[in-house]
Amino acid sequence: ESLSVGELAQKLGKEPSEIIKKLFMLGVMATINQELDKDAIELICAEYGVEVEEEIRIDVTDLEIYFEDPDEEEQQPVNLEERPPVVTIMGHVDHGKTTLLDSIRDTKVTQGEAGGITQHIGAYQIKEKGKKITFLDTPGHEAFTTMRARGAKITDLTILVVAADDGVMPQTIEAINHAKAAEVPIIVAVNKMDKPTANPDRVMQELTEHGLVSEDWGGDTIFVPISALKGEGIDQLLEMVLLVAEVGELKADSSIRARGTVIEAQLDKGKGSAATLLVQNGTLHVGDPIVVGNTYGRVRAMVSDLGRRVKEAGPSTPVEITGLSDVPQAGDRFVVFKDEKTARQIGEARAGEALQEQRVEKTRVTLDNLFDQMKQGEMKELNLIVKADVQGAVEAMAASLMKIEVEGVNVKIIHTGAGAINESDISLAAASNAIVIGFNVRPDTNAKRAAEAEGVDIRLHRVIYKVIEEIESAMKGLLDPEY
Ligand code: GDP
Repeated sequence: ESLSVGELAQKLGKEPSEIIKKLFMLGVMATINQELDKDAIELICAEYGVEVEEEIRIDVTDLEIYFEDPDEEEQQPVNLEERPPVVTIMGHVDHGKTTLLDSIRDTKVTQGEAGGITQHIGAYQIKEKGKKITFLDTPGHEAFTTMRARGAKITDLTILVVAADDGVMPQTIEAINHAKAAEVPIIVAVNKMDKPTANPDRVMQELTEHGLVSEDWGGDTIFVPISALKGEGIDQLLEMVLLVAEVGELKADSSIRARGTVIEAQLDKGKGSAATLLVQNGTLHVGDPIVVGNTYGRVRAMVSDLGRRVKEAGPSTPVEITGLSDVPQAGDRFVVFKDEKTARQIGEARAGEALQEQRVEKTRVTLDNLFDQMKQGEMKELNLIVKADVQGAVEAMAASLMKIEVEGVNVKIIHTGAGAINESDISLAAASNAIVIGFNVRPDTNAKRAAEAEGVDIRLHRVIYKVIEEIESAMKGLLDPEY
């Protein structure tokens, strides 16, 4: 950056004439408004025994910018190579997510990597047919959506587990809508095939109603029958994961400085702040100066999912690191910087800001700010989540809402369901910038707390036409403000 003679004088607490004189003695003719280049500034500062600290201008979004588009030419990902897919397992409670995660780890990890003792660090990596696959080992969609609500996109592919003896259940549908909202491809694992009551056809039938049509029936969704308990069908499932990953052309550049996302973090009695990071681009090394969310440090030690100390971690690899000054949050971004000074400056600047609040307030849609957002051209689509006491009411509401026509914006219903508004609805709303409508239902305690924390707008009604009227007025900017 450059400074004028006057500005430099001010910074040094000297008279401009004095600076001009010094410059003259150094062989530079200058006036008070003249812009000085870096070399000249350094020369003058050296005269006064002042060290030049380049000012780093950083605002709260800059880590994101660094993540997406680092300003240094050589840090742009250009040498793209294939990277392992990152897979999440979702599905209804008791349909076998945990059993599947354990089964995959037990059969695949220990085979090749003798001597390792598996560590639960929030993710693990296996090898199938010589190719790596990374699994996030928190089953369910809470973790998935919490991260997405914080702007992180880490999942390449979702395995939707559906028990063949139970069929499609409410959380199955939630999981589908979470994955769809994130535009993550779904592979269906029809589980518990060992049970005599297993009815895979019913699962296929029920899933067609949610847009997942099996390849056998002319659709493009892959279904794999498995028994997570007996370890049957796991190989085929993993093969399909690799196939879908190949189609997705997942690429990264391992030669640049690492950046990625926090999977989980906690304060450890012995180790201090311990965070599991998923490297998404570049290679992370022990000793790297790093900014993680609103904290920073130097990577002191790295431990793999097998409990081994490692010196480096490439794309799609999860590692637990220590050495941060504070505990970051799941979903936080991390970026490695070229030196510790830069990392510290950025880390401190970020820690100084009340980041979270700002981000939430800036982006969340509410019926009260909807019209403004539409006017500014920020909203082309109004995402809604509709919950009601009975399925019939859900459908009636959804049908009426879809009919709303206001120029410039479409109503899109991203999730519906019968029953109370729950935490999953709120996290989906937060991640997808949606408004939640409750018809004859209320949010449960957790949902209420989450909605407050995330700034998600919940609208409760008992009469259908009131709902429609309210949404329509909001879209037209005619809503009376609520006080
Ligand atoms: P989650 O809630 O989706 O994580 O489900 P779990 O993995 O905890 O499984 C719930 C129950 O289903 C457990 O008792 C498992 O042993 C059982 N289970 C999971 N997979 C299978 C399977 O393939 N066959 C049978 N028979 N039982 C299974």
